[in-house]
Amino acid sequence: MSVRVRFAPSPTGGLHLGGVRTVLYNYLFARQHGGDFILRVEDTDQSRYVPGAEEYIVNCLQWCGLIPEESPQKGGPYAPYRQSERKHLYKEYAEKLVKDGYAYYAFDTPLELENMRTQLHSNTNTNPQYDRTTRMKMRNSLTLIKEETDSLISKGEPYVVRIKMPENETVSFTDMIRGHIHFDTNLVDDKVLLKADGMPTYHLAVVVDDYLMKITHAFRGEEWLPSAPVHILLWQYLGWAKHMPQWAHLPLILKPDGHGKLSKRDGDRLGFPVFAMNWADPRTGETTGGFREMGFLPEAFVNMLALLGWNDGTEQEIFSLEELVKKFSIERVHKGGAKFDFEKAKWFNHQYIQQKNDAELLPLVKPFIQTHVNNVSDPYLLRVIILIKDRCTLLTDFWQQGHFLFETPELKALQSIREKWNEQKKQFFLAWLQSLSSTTEWNHTNIENNFNQLLQQQGLKKGDILSTLRIMLVGGKYGPGVFHIAELIGKTETISRISNTLSLI
Ligand code: GLU
Repeated sequence: MSVRVRFAPSPTGGLHLGGVRTVLYNYLFARQHGGDFILRVEDTDQSRYVPGAEEYIVNCLQWCGLIPEESPQKGGPYAPYRQSERKHLYKEYAEKLVKDGYAYYAFDTPLELENMRTQLHSNTNTNPQYDRTTRMKMRNSLTLIKEETDSLISKGEPYVVRIKMPENETVSFTDMIRGHIHFDTNLVDDKVLLKADGMPTYHLAVVVDDYLMKITHAFRGEEWLPSAPVHILLWQYLGWAKHMPQWAHLPLILKPDGHGKLSKRDGDRLGFPVFAMNWADPRTGETTGGFREMGFLPEAFVNMLALLGWNDGTEQEIFSLEELVKKFSIERVHKGGAKFDFEKAKWFNHQYIQQKNDAELLPLVKPFIQTHVNNVSDPYLLRVIILIKDRCTLLTDFWQQGHFLFETPELKALQSIREKWNEQKKQFFLAWLQSLSSTTEWNHTNIENNFNQLLQQQGLKKGDILSTLRIMLVGGKYGPGVFHIAELIGKTETISRISNTLSLI
């Protein structure tokens, strides 16, 4: 039987890096087994639906190079891949479950549910549930006579379908990561399967669709583990037990200090992205930063995610996607949560930037420069990349580390020149300006020789003058070799920056 796996996001907002890791593990497993990777959009909860979120998810997958074989966009043999478009399919299964005695219609109004919760709320029962202990006190097809149920339905009274959790049973399965897991059915409530608007809940839709789409393995976040008994019973009750996919519940991605799940708020607080790409929330107008816009290469992002919860048993950390396809194994995924380490994420990116050749980097760096200046020629940008690549960890660093190669910088450190200024230095720079203007071959070696000669003639020490020159050209005390900078910005600009500084001191 060929492997079929799925990523099944709900389009409710930005794509968390944990979500991308789920995509990645699905993708690697499918590729490794020559199977299919499917994108299924789980949009049955209309109240949480956010316009644009699906397109955003598709773009994130595209950016990461983790492209599904079947999806709402591409179609495929089991279309549609958007659950809202499959609404008509689910009711029949909900009704079959009711007919077979595994589920029931419940007519309780929100007020009645609220009353039940307040009445039963006590110190020992802080969260009263609709379950085996309460269902017989509620208004549902188990407590009403058949004629009444039928008449309520035919009158159009709103109802939901709930699973009837069996009493005193143990439900178990073998998780590919966690091994044998069992649940006591007495501790699980009667989850809603079909809502009053006719839409299925996640619990019904995930089982029906995994069955209809012939999913063989389902990898999902650890937060879904408590729902597993409901799903297992649905697979059994619908008569599909032998088709149930093998499950793997992936460990959480934790805050850097290891205390709790990493949230978007932690990212905002600690100054790193949590979403794959920038997410502009249409409801609030707020934009949350993403790894892509922060200057991560997708290969580095993917490599970093692969290792958040998995390793191949060696010290190796850099893996190409092809290598991951060969070496990944779901059984080696850790049970415990994986701490997110932003410094480590940057380390991966630095490695990938250094590995890439300069011509490959050019189109990747260009958009990050073009957000600041728009008339940059490719040959010039290539020279900049060669000069500053080793100082760059993020694609945004090419601007941070090299902005003065594209624009005349603000002289932020002028004060520090002033503090050590003297007549000798002034004479040196005036003389050097003269000599620069008559330099014909403008390259860093000539400029440096010329500089050294004059220093010697004037009997001055190099260090101090060199750092003054750096501030004149860069605006601050950073950047690559000063003479390389002068070569790149050209003779006219070099002369103009020096003269301009002289006039300001
Ligand atoms: N729609 C669920 C989510 O957004 C999918 C869980 C699953 O993969 O079964 O997390």
